[in-house]
Amino acid sequence: MKHVIIGNGIAGVSAAEAIRLLEATADITIIGDETFPPYSRPMISHVLAGSQPHGKLPIRSEHFYADQKITPLLGRRAVGIDVAGRQVLLADDTRIGFDRLLIAAGADPRPLKAEGLDLKNIFYMRTQEHAKQQVAALDGARRAVVLGGGLVGFKAAYGLLRRGLAVTMLITSGYPLSMQVDETAGRMILDELVRHGLTVQVGVTVRAFEGNGSVRAAVTDAGTRLPCDMVIIGKGVLPCRTFIPKGQIEVDLGVVVDEHLQTTAPGIYAAGDVAEMVDIARGCRWVNALWPEAVGQGRVAGLNMAGREVAYPGSLSRNVMRVFDLDVLTVGNVTPREEAGYRIVQTGGAAQKYYRRLVLRDDLLVGAVMINRIEQGGVLRSLIENRIPIRLPPERLVAPGFNFGQLLY
Ligand SMILES: Cc1cc2nc3c(=O)[nH]c(=O)nc-3n(C[C@H](O)[C@H](O)[C@H](O)COP(=O)(O)OP(=O)(O)OC[C@H]3O[C@@H](n4cnc5c(N)ncnc54)[C@H](O)[C@@H]3O)c2cc1C
Repeated sequence: MKHVIIGNGIAGVSAAEAIRLLEATADITIIGDETFPPYSRPMISHVLAGSQPHGKLPIRSEHFYADQKITPLLGRRAVGIDVAGRQVLLADDTRIGFDRLLIAAGADPRPLKAEGLDLKNIFYMRTQEHAKQQVAALDGARRAVVLGGGLVGFKAAYGLLRRGLAVTMLITSGYPLSMQVDETAGRMILDELVRHGLTVQVGVTVRAFEGNGSVRAAVTDAGTRLPCDMVIIGKGVLPCRTFIPKGQIEVDLGVVVDEHLQTTAPGIYAAGDVAEMVDIARGCRWVNALWPEAVGQGRVAGLNMAGREVAYPGSLSRNVMRVFDLDVLTVGNVTPREEAGYRIVQTGGAAQKYYRRLVLRDDLLVGAVMINRIEQGGVLRSLIENRIPIRLPPERLVAPGFNFGQLLY
């Protein structure tokens, strides 16, 4: 059996390992357009922060390809798939034949529309190469602007602060992490960022950059001019889908897959940031571009490619992070678009220095946000993940210190 994997990230690597586990002699090829062996993408911000050297974020041993008997085709870009002819087309006109194919090409930064984007020292933040360029730009830089209040924007801002720059964060929504937390939690996080020296403007986007060769200022949609020596853009990601043949493999926002991670083309699978599948908490298809999802989906895709029928339970958004002195945990659907049909219970707030919000649909917990005292987050996640009916009043559940053992009786 010949297995080809497009993408040398954690989804692709997890799939390759799962295939090798079941098929000792299968032919496995990984195609990746970056030249590095697999590395930890979330940790590229540590390179920017100066706590990790560039090129030293490996997630597997240096002998990984040899040990797993994988043929790596690095620095090579897939530009098309011949579904009927069972071949991947590369940018250098090579064709790679396959019996089973995994699309694990991840995502690209969502492009920003603004004038002056071609000025130097304006960066996206997705690859080790981006982090290397950012570090080079730090020399002599005093002020930075970070666009986006999501995970990537946060990590960029933190790294730049650690390097001693004055950082202004511009967030389009009304509060940071608006995809992960509700407004009360968002405002607590915002206060914490400001308390630690970040300047944050909400409800703002950039319409242009000014400079002479290198960026010297960002101009907001309100016309405010913010002087800066570098800019990092972290406005979310879009699945890499440009090489997917239209009409032959269904694509919505991401590549649509079933519970076996198979696309609408038999024998062709997708996993990780590129894939779209049913989200456990939302009950509809969603792209959850997160590391643990990429690991789990890659593994299950690999098992299915190797002939073992394994169902993936569905994707689930989840995150635990430390924002200076706040522990933040978020799982599932915490801000349902229409609150009708949902029940929301919450307790705490800024004054109490902790906050807890639960979102229920009928008798199922579908979302949870916790700020500080997050120890019970794992139990809440398990209730959501396993769709365990809640038979007690949710007001009891939301109280800190609730004994979850009571759910068993
Ligand atoms: C700065 C940053 C911080 C993050 N922090 C967190 C975090 O705290 N928690 C969390 O859960 N997630 C975080 N993430 C997200 C996490 O890194 C991703 O969810 C994860 O890396 C997805 O893995 P993947 O294998 O699907 O895709 P990727 O890691 O993107 O790997 C895809 C691979 O495919 C290659 N590729 C793409 N197109 C082609 C092509 N046409 N031909 C050949 N190769 C191609 C790419 O070069 C890449 O090597 C962060 C991401 C970033 C950038």
